[in-house]
Amino acid sequence: MRSIRRGETGPAVSEIRSILVGLELLGSAEPDVFDEALESAVRAFQQDRGLGIDGMVGDETWRALDAARWRLGSRTLFHSVPDPLVGEDVRALQERMLEMGYDTGRPDAVYGTRTARAVAQFQREVGLSTDGSCGPQTMKALRRLGRKVVGGRPQWLREAEAFRQSGPNLVGKTIVIDPGHGGGTDTGVVVPDGPLRWTEADLVFDLASRLEGRLSAAGMRVHLTRGPSPAKPMTGVERAALANSLGADLLISLHLDGHATEAAEGVATYHYGTGTGLSSTVGERLANLVQREIVVRTGMHDCRTHAKSWDLLRLTRMPTVRVDLGYLTSPVDRERLIDPLCREQIVEAILAAVQRMYFPVERDVPTGSIDVRQLRMALSSRPSS
Ligand SMILES: [Zn+2]
Repeated sequence: MRSIRRGETGPAVSEIRSILVGLELLGSAEPDVFDEALESAVRAFQQDRGLGIDGMVGDETWRALDAARWRLGSRTLFHSVPDPLVGEDVRALQERMLEMGYDTGRPDAVYGTRTARAVAQFQREVGLSTDGSCGPQTMKALRRLGRKVVGGRPQWLREAEAFRQSGPNLVGKTIVIDPGHGGGTDTGVVVPDGPLRWTEADLVFDLASRLEGRLSAAGMRVHLTRGPSPAKPMTGVERAALANSLGADLLISLHLDGHATEAAEGVATYHYGTGTGLSSTVGERLANLVQREIVVRTGMHDCRTHAKSWDLLRLTRMPTVRVDLGYLTSPVDRERLIDPLCREQIVEAILAAVQRMYFPVERDVPTGSIDVRQLRMALSSRPSS
């Protein structure tokens, strides 16, 4: 396409004007001419999108303008092969889904397989037909969740109210916390530190007992798979069998990671999956919530969620995730992990993720927004009949 530039008139110019007015980069759609104001709006748009800044609308700028005019809800979004839909509405949808704990992948404004799969998962959970496309029904369900973070007292009250109503949903649920390793020589990752020596087995046991305290206080039945120093190591098969025999509703396994390079750092969460599309969708959602709550609350590096078919993930009959809570071999992560206050933050993040699992989807809250201290209050205000 020929570049449209200063001085021109016509339908293309008025279309460009109206898109830029919609983006609030231009004050008025009139007059119907490529004037100085339009040129500077085009430059601002190009700068914003990382395009070459020349104040003219050529091919590349036109494609970006075309994608930018779509507002979420103004058209039905679906997975189209081989030419996927592209637009700001897709990006807005992806950001929204990520925030709710559905993994769309990077918000790249392209409606690909992963986005369609995340939408299908959302549809299944709110009881819509699961076609993986985002039409009026799905938009309506998304709008019902139309909670915006606005700060201030009304927002706080609304969240406290959400807590009062749904906090008790944890009551009576059974959760198994699995501190990794332990027993005999199975210490996991070990890092000497002067006269001290930090071990994965001890640190994850500390985290597990903190989590046990918080989850019990919230009314859950909590079991740990092992004590502080078991006589012999336990396999993943044995841990899974224990959780199955307890009829647990959820299992969270806690590990730390280690690497020869000090630079390796960050948190990663694993759920069951074979990499061929077969995965535990509930486990996947729990993994996404755990991962995002920890990353947002602690600022640890995001090593994302991954599907694995490890024994513990494969053999358990309840949603199960394993979290690798940072690299003990990284000075940055280690500093956090040996600080009890930081460990408390991690525990709060996991608690918030578990709570969000039991919120009805339409009452879900933004990541990092749950004040877990409210849990106890929610419980104590419950009629004790
Ligand atoms: Zn481990």
